[in-house]
Amino acid sequence: MAATVPRLRFAPSPTGYLHVGGARTALFNWLYAKKFGGQFLLRIEDTDKARSTDESTRAIFEGLTWLGLHWDEDVVYQGANVERNRDDAYRMLANDTAYRCFCTQAELAERRAAAEARGESFRYDRRCDRLDRAEIDRRVADGVPFTLRFRVPEGSTSWDDLVHGEIAFPNKDIEDFIILRTDGTPIYNMAVVSDDIFMRITLVMRGDDHISNTPKQILLYRALGAELPTFAHLPMIHGLDGKKLSKRHGATAVGDYQHLGILPGAMLNFLALLGWSPGHDIEVMTLARMVELFDTEGLQKKAAIFDPKKLEWMNGQHLSLMPAAELATIVTPALEAAGLATAADLAARRDWYLALLELLKVRARTTDDIVRQAAPYLADAITYDAEAEAKQWKDRPGTAKLLGEVRRALASLGAWEPAAMEEALRSLAERMGFGDKAGKIFQPLRVALTGLGVSPGIFDVLVMLGRDRALGRIDSAVRRLAGPAV
Ligand code: GLU
Repeated sequence: MAATVPRLRFAPSPTGYLHVGGARTALFNWLYAKKFGGQFLLRIEDTDKARSTDESTRAIFEGLTWLGLHWDEDVVYQGANVERNRDDAYRMLANDTAYRCFCTQAELAERRAAAEARGESFRYDRRCDRLDRAEIDRRVADGVPFTLRFRVPEGSTSWDDLVHGEIAFPNKDIEDFIILRTDGTPIYNMAVVSDDIFMRITLVMRGDDHISNTPKQILLYRALGAELPTFAHLPMIHGLDGKKLSKRHGATAVGDYQHLGILPGAMLNFLALLGWSPGHDIEVMTLARMVELFDTEGLQKKAAIFDPKKLEWMNGQHLSLMPAAELATIVTPALEAAGLATAADLAARRDWYLALLELLKVRARTTDDIVRQAAPYLADAITYDAEAEAKQWKDRPGTAKLLGEVRRALASLGAWEPAAMEEALRSLAERMGFGDKAGKIFQPLRVALTGLGVSPGIFDVLVMLGRDRALGRIDSAVRRLAGPAV
């Protein structure tokens, strides 16, 4: 017999943006499918019409597309399957694993309230399962509305979870639950099982907030005579305070990070480590490497911690690893949006631009950082960072004098190249009595050239700016230093 091809699905409810937890679940399903030559399907669980929106559905598509988690086959919309879901529920009525319940919502609410008043927890008492055939037929003929309820058998329901191992629920703790409402629409668990069977899903991987649904779903598979998929329940994601991740913890939508200058590769890498460990202390991985290393053995049971600082760090790692030409495709639109350059202008001096990106990428954590750091090389005027100015230009007359000397030394250079600059500035440091502490020159000069306290090496900065612009910046700094302190 040919081995079955794994089929997995990501089944978000379109009731908000694609959030970090959903994206993590999507990624793990995707990784498993890729690793084992399977299919990754997308099902939009839009049965809750009141809360589902097209905008959320679009945000899910956009988020997955941005991350590069492409799905196979057509998107399945759960809401379009109501008829099939209903047929499946009726199959259970026909094979006697379900029964009609004529109790109204008002009656059930009353009985629930009475049970609670007695300090008992309410459980449906199966009264409609005891109706005789003739009575049922009479009520149906009279058009009395009914739901379909699943008749939970005795015993217990268990499965071997890929993450948690054996999980068992005693069936006595599960009441005869409704599978079809009076209006003929399926209840959540019914729709999920009917759809998963139809989509031939072999592995259901989802958040462990669904663990309590799984025994009910398993019972439905059995009642429908369908083969069970394997289940894997992924750990919840918590904030740094140990509480379930929510809006209180700041940005939790994937789209927010896209707009904060996070690379999709870094986001994926960060998400991959929320509940999975590739072992061997490996952290930084491309998507291809994640596919290679992915294994359910590495899935964790304990809650994963969402640390935005780690995401930034991860992004910095991915920025450093990215070839400048690839980085340019992301940074160029950002520079254009910031009004710092046009794509045509950057294309005209592509070598210079790529060299600049090589210098900036290793010091940046986000593409926004790169844009900020690139500004001094692209804009005519610079903005002085107040903190850097206060710190590096403390003695303003002294700094003005120092920069005047630096200008003279640099202006007299025959060639605008690093070795000559270094020699000139180091010998200036000697002459000024700084000994080997050339930093006393480099730091104030850095502020003069870039307005920033951090930049690539000072000689790289001088080269990238070019002679005229660099000398012009020093002149502006000297003028600024003559004015009042800021
Ligand atoms: N729609 C459910 C959710 O967004 C997922 C259901 C499932 O994966 O079975 O949590």
